[in-house]
Parts: sequence; C-alpha cells; structure tokens
Amino acid sequence: EQTAESHVFEADVARLLHMMVHSVYSDRNVFLRELISNAADACEKLRYEAIEKPSFLGADAEGRITLTLDEENRQLVVEDNGIGMSRDEMIEALGTIARSGTRAFLERIEASKAAEGAQLIGQFGVGFYSCFMVAERVDVISHRAGSQEAWIWASDGKGSYSVSPANLAEVPSRGTRIVLHLMEDAKQYTSRWTVERIVKEQSGHVPVAIRVVEKPGSEPVQITDGSALWTKSKSEVTKEEYADFYRGVSGQYDEPALTVHFRAEGRHEYTALAFIPGTQPFDMLDPERKGRMKLYAKRVFITDDAELLPRYLRFVRGLVDTADLPLNVSREMIQESPILMAIRKGVTSRIITAIEKLSESDAEAFLKFWENFGAVLKEGIYDDLERRAQLMALARFRTSTSGEGYRSLAEYVKDIKEGQNAIYYLAGSSLDQLKASPQLEGFLARGIEVLFLTDSVDSFWAMNAPEFEGKAFKSITQGAADLAQFPKLDRQATQEPETGTMAKFLAFTKQTLADHIADVRASDRLTESAVCLVAPEDGYDRQMEKILRNAGR
Ligand code: ADP
Ligand code: MG
Repeated sequence: EQTAESHVFEADVARLLHMMVHSVYSDRNVFLRELISNAADACEKLRYEAIEKPSFLGADAEGRITLTLDEENRQLVVEDNGIGMSRDEMIEALGTIARSGTRAFLERIEASKAAEGAQLIGQFGVGFYSCFMVAERVDVISHRAGSQEAWIWASDGKGSYSVSPANLAEVPSRGTRIVLHLMEDAKQYTSRWTVERIVKEQSGHVPVAIRVVEKPGSEPVQITDGSALWTKSKSEVTKEEYADFYRGVSGQYDEPALTVHFRAEGRHEYTALAFIPGTQPFDMLDPERKGRMKLYAKRVFITDDAELLPRYLRFVRGLVDTADLPLNVSREMIQESPILMAIRKGVTSRIITAIEKLSESDAEAFLKFWENFGAVLKEGIYDDLERRAQLMALARFRTSTSGEGYRSLAEYVKDIKEGQNAIYYLAGSSLDQLKASPQLEGFLARGIEVLFLTDSVDSFWAMNAPEFEGKAFKSITQGAADLAQFPKLDRQATQEPETGTMAKFLAFTKQTLADHIADVRASDRLTESAVCLVAPEDGYDRQMEKILRNAGR
C-alpha cells in the first residue's frame, strides 16, 4: 500500500480559496454549476479523443453526469464518465490556476470592497475550488480513459492536498467522482428537491444528461436530457433558457446583453449561438486577445481555440456547430479551413448587424454595451478594413460638447461648422486631462467640437482612418490649427500685437530653444494659455508619440 503524498497549493490558489471561503462570494449554489460544467467538459473532451481512439468509449458511449445524495453521511457525490485525469493532470488542474490574467484579477478583487469583490469573482467564474464553499473536505477520484491507474486527490482546502493511488477495482472504469463532505450548514445539498431545483435552474441545458440518485443504492432518475439548446429553433427557447445556457458557456453569472441565434443553410450549414455579455469578462483586456467561441462538429466539441471571430469581437461568448467539418479534422487544420473562413464571416456579420439593431432600438442598452466593449470593438476600425465604415458608425465618443453623454460621428458631421472639413480629435489617457488641455482653448472659444479619445487603441485607428463621410481626422495636437476662418463665439476684441513684434518674438524664441523644438508659430489655438506644444504636421500626434516612447521605440 503506497502512502499519500502531500502537496501545497500554489500561492494564487491559496488566495482564491481564502477569498471564496471567507464568503466574498455569497451565492454558494454556484459550486454545483461549476462541478457540472467541468463534468460536461470532461464528457465532451472524451468524445473528441475517442474520434481517434474509439476504444476509449467502449460499450459506454453516452456521456453521463450522476449526482448521488447521501443525507446520512452528509455527502454529495458528482460523478461523470468523461475523460478523467491522470495523476499529473490532477496536480496541474487542481493545484494551480492556469488561466492567464489570474494574478492581476486576484489583486483587483483584494483591492475592491466586499460587494464589488463578490461581483468580480462571479465574473471570474469560480471553478472547481468553489466546492470548498460548501465542503469541509473534498475527495476527487479519477480514472483517465485508457490508463491502467486511478488516483485520489483529497483536501480540506486549507493550504495543502494529498494525492494517492486508488484501487482500480473500486473506481469507475473511466471518469471522475467528486465526493463532497458537506459542512454542517450545507446539508441542504443532500435534499433531492433542492438539488434538482438548482440543477434545472443553473444547468438545465448542458449538453450531457444529468441524473440524480436520491440515496446510495437507489435507482438514478434523469432530470435533464442533455439535448443541445442550440439545435432547437429560436421560437422554442425562452429568455431564461438562453440566459442559463449563456452562464454555462461563458462562466459568467450575469445576463447576456445580446443573444444571436441562427442557422445558416445553403453552401455552408451551421448553427451559431452567440452572446454579448452584460458585463466585462475578466480576461477581456488580456494582451493575448484570444476569443473563446467554441467549435462543435455535429454536436461534438472540437476546440475553443479556432478563432471563430475576429479579435475585436473577443468578448463574445458562445458556439458554432457545423455539419460541414469532418469529425477527425485536426485542430491545426481547422484554422486554414475555407469552411471556417466562411463561418467566421457569416457569424461576424450577424453579430455586427445585431449590435447595429441594438443601437437603433435601445439607446440605453447600446450605450451600456459601448461602455463595456467599445474599446475592444474600436480595434476593428483598423483591423477590419471591410467593416471599417460600419464600425465607425457604431462608435460613440465623449466630445467637447457632449457633456455626460456620447456622440456618434454622424452627429458630429451633421453639426459640423460651415467650411470645417476635418473631424478634430484630442487623444490622451484621461478625460480630465484632455478637458484641461491648452490645445483645446481655441476650439472651445469657437464652438468647434473635438472628440476626446481616451482608449489606447484610439490613437492607432484615428491615425489610420482616412475619413468619415468625406471628413478627415485631425489631431489638434499636431500641425497648424487653421482656426482663423471660424469666428469666436464670444467676440471680445483681442489686442493684436504691433506689426513686427510677433515676428521678432518668434525669431527670438526659436533661436533660444533651437535644440529642443523644430518651429514656433503664433496660433489661434490658444485663448488663455501663453504656449502649448504641438507635433509636426507629418508624423505622429502627441499621444501617439507618448505611446511609442512607452513601448520603447
Ligand atoms: P476551468 O473549468 O475553467 O478550466 P476549473 O477550476 O473549473 O476551471 O477546473 C480546472 C481544471 O480541472 C479543468 O480545466 C480540468 O482540466 C480539470 N477538471 C475539473 N473537473 C474535472 C472533471 N470532472 N473531469 C476531468 N477534469 C476535470
Ligand atoms: Mg470549470
């Protein structure tokens, strides 16, 4: 008999566990959704691996999740016949946090107040470790498909866990059994009524059937049928069902802001079910900019790494299921497949159309969407030339005249001054800083609207976007301002300097600062301030210079 080896949790896991157990997150029911979602993932991974190795399925081909309730021993057992975990996989998956951006995210949670923390952790998706909100001890017994060994992982969630070999005769032929030794105040999770209600509410549409065994030894009763929601027609699905499915597929606990569900027929056949989240996913600003749409082929999960959408739609969650891809397509081949290109194009169009419709039908909901995802969507203005005009039309801005509201470029152009043929912008890192900018003075005095661009992506597209409705974009921190033709709103006579004085002063300044500046000129740009810095006409504007300098160029 081998003894158990003891391991300590990685530091981030310990922090996450600490936060969770100390009730930062109050909705404890979600542990069940997390365990069921992992069990369903495991069944889907098995189906995928079994395409190459059919022996993995054996006679037991149908994915299954079984919840066994044991009131007497205060235990809840969640079992699946999925892919299972090897010893090393267990140590990796249940002792560390692999997701990128986790550390930064934990820091945000710790810095926030309790209530915000709860919301944040909800967005993060609490994962496997959430079972320690209800269990004082957890045993994970797992048997990897195709392996001759099985292992037991056990922990009280307080800093360490143990791993020991299991007796093959006592474990399922494949898959994972998770035994929760429930805390005294969590014994309701052995009540069939409670568990059934939570499962139907939270996990009614996971694509693997779920069964309940009311007490050890009794017959299993199926409570959800594992039929894939996306295969139903739109009219058969309720809003609640969509929301439930969204939470499962996104790992978020909010409501979707937008649901796009359609079936494409004709040259390519596929079904797409995509959601725009109601709040920002925690990894949205991850530098990898990866999307997380899942690809299925005939209801078999293939990968969530197929780049089914352009990067500027990486906040979208959901899936595409196609009948056109062969099941044995390799994950590498998928990227280059023309079928996938067609799907990508089709789904992107439908999502952008849905956003456009939202902007027309519900201004408030649209602005909320914009506040969450505008900064990402704007990347498409320089990434996706084909849709540039559409994306520019969707964009909303704070401007020198917008007050607390937002303006579209169409509105800007509609109210443009007679003779003004540029869309002026001022880029920087914060709204307050921009509003105090001396470069703005001359524009304010003349009532000329200036876009305030505060997202770092802005400098890139503004420099590259040639025009909107025939008007070029022009940074007000660059080149000459040419404002003389526009009258000031408040026509106070300004005292013009005597002839020659200005020229002399400019020559003097230029000479004195010769090592630091390229030119000096009198400007209409200023009304209050004496001087400001501007960038030369050709080249980068001031914000872009800063960005490039920070990037070390
Ligand atoms: P996520 O599901 O987002 O990856 P979790 O914390 O929920 O994060 O799970 C961590 C990992 O543990 C999973 O990615 C998976 O590798 C492994 N895992 C958890 N539960 C199971 C299970 N029932 N069967 C197989 N692997 C599992
Ligand atoms: Mg999970």
